[in-house]
Amino acid sequence: MSHTPGPWEVDSAHGTDAVYVLSENHLIAHVIAHGDGTDDAANARLIAAAPDLLEACQAALEIAEALHPRGSCDGCRMCPLELEMAPALRAALYALEAGR
Ligand SMILES: [Zn+2]
Repeated sequence: MSHTPGPWEVDSAHGTDAVYVLSENHLIAHVIAHGDGTDDAANARLIAAAPDLLEACQAALEIAEALHPRGSCDGCRMCPLELEMAPALRAALYALEAGR
């Protein structure tokens, strides 16, 4: 998976019509205003956080797999790492890699 390296920043200095997400001076995304515009800045911040969120998901999955390998017990308080957290992280990372 390849993407423009972070950090990405929100540029909302263009009035209410547009919010941009930039990497240095490279345009990553143009969030087009719709509705009353209240979600636009939040959507742009979510996009701008993507490189950090990706890194955090990858690190969390590595930790979960290390702390509780698949099928390593019959039920302990760490099982949610394997049964809930790891699948959610894998699904999110798979969606990124598959372009969905
Ligand atoms: Zn367990």
